[in-house]
Amino acid sequence: MTLPVQRLTSWGRVMSSEQAVYHPSSRFDPLPAEARTYLPYGKGRSYGDSCLNPGGVAIKTGALDRYIRFDPASGVLACEAGVSFDEILRLVVPQGWFLPVTPGTRFITLGGAIANDVHGKNHHVAGTFGVHVRNFELLRSDGQRLLCSRELNPEMFAATVGGLGLTGLVTWAEIQLRRIHNPWINTETIRYGSVAEFFELCELSDRDYEYTVAWVDCVGTGQRLGRGLFTRGNHAPAGTSAGRHNAKAHTFPFVPPVSVVNAWTLQAFNSVYYHKQLRRSARQVQHYEPFFYPLDGMLEWNRMYGPRGFYQYQCVLPKAHGQAAITEMLDAVAHSGMGSFLAVLKMCGTISSPGMLSFPLPGVSLALDFPNQGERLQQLFTRLDDIVRAAQGRLYPAKDACMPGELFRAGYPQWQKFAGFVDPGFSSSFWRRVMEEK
Ligand SMILES: Cc1cc2nc3c(=O)[nH]c(=O)nc-3n(C[C@H](O)[C@H](O)[C@H](O)COP(=O)(O)OP(=O)(O)OC[C@H]3O[C@@H](n4cnc5c(N)ncnc54)[C@H](O)[C@@H]3O)c2cc1C
Repeated sequence: MTLPVQRLTSWGRVMSSEQAVYHPSSRFDPLPAEARTYLPYGKGRSYGDSCLNPGGVAIKTGALDRYIRFDPASGVLACEAGVSFDEILRLVVPQGWFLPVTPGTRFITLGGAIANDVHGKNHHVAGTFGVHVRNFELLRSDGQRLLCSRELNPEMFAATVGGLGLTGLVTWAEIQLRRIHNPWINTETIRYGSVAEFFELCELSDRDYEYTVAWVDCVGTGQRLGRGLFTRGNHAPAGTSAGRHNAKAHTFPFVPPVSVVNAWTLQAFNSVYYHKQLRRSARQVQHYEPFFYPLDGMLEWNRMYGPRGFYQYQCVLPKAHGQAAITEMLDAVAHSGMGSFLAVLKMCGTISSPGMLSFPLPGVSLALDFPNQGERLQQLFTRLDDIVRAAQGRLYPAKDACMPGELFRAGYPQWQKFAGFVDPGFSSSFWRRVMEEK
């Protein structure tokens, strides 16, 4: 079979590759007979090279879009792996259910969520997405179909959750949803002045609030270092109604010739955003879409970084070193003059991640977006990598395009065990890079 060739891009728009593309039309289709390696591709919402496999075959899962069963009494949902979180929410929210864990965009697939074992604002009470996956089918390159759960093929289950698409194709999965009464979230946003204050707010909030997250001003130095807006929220109780929700999204219309995110716009944005609410604390009832997915309101927002694209840098640091290391990182970013417009701090809890390569660990996570500024930015990443290494933290493969192989292997001590479960017919740019394969 001759497969069509397509240019695939990841979300940061720095990396792309020409690949043969295979579109299975349902979960029953076999993989095409091919000498090259395979890699599943969901919606390409990973930022770097973990969803790319130049020279190989991309298995695009868009047509694996069928629901298999949904029990509205128990909230157990089974569907094909190409179904998106957006589609799931449209089905289940009107029936009183919600995703157990969701990242900051709903435009991802179920297969992509499993392969990166995604986390969200409720990590401290719900753990990662994989905690709520009951079972799935894995199609290997030799045609074997394995049913995986905590009881059946448990090690393959643990390798595939967070396994970066390298153990085979997840064709369908069954997940446990979370009960809700309505689509509304009771939220409170609190202005805080320092990294220490962020940690105090987490301490005070993590018991009573299911969702916590902070935006941090990362151009502020001195007295302003680490200041930001801390948001906490819970699903609203029965009887709450906050009127109508305007679901209309706009699209960033074109790729500008240069990034609209630069030193001047960042300075202005960070200052205005920090002062966006006059009072120290503000409460509101919000629809779940703007609460969980503020960036989804502007489709294709990644274009605003211009033709050179952008990088995201996300790390997690163990609690013991977290505060000092975050302070050092924010100081390095602010002094580099390459501050980020999207900078997110989040406490991760102690619920163990089920995957061998799952990213979260108990501690604090920092995510920063940077316009691609070539060598200057790579020097900043080297500095940030040093801080992460010294604090015994790790970087998130879903967001990564640059981490050295040694940092990956130190951060993910189970990598050798994991390597034993990699399907010999599957590979990715990311995997070859961190394994330092030629
Ligand atoms: C705005 C934004 C906010 C984000 N916020 C968060 C966040 O808060 N938390 C978080 O954890 N992540 C976050 N992410 C990252 C995103 O959730 C992950 O990268 C997710 O895995 C993307 O899913 P996808 O369907 O686009 O998969 P892709 O990016 O296409 O692929 C991701 C990986 O999944 C594998 N894969 C895809 N489908 C399958 C399948 N059927 N079987 C086996 N492997 C498969 C691919 O091979 C690849 O390794 C965010 C991304 C964006 C753009």
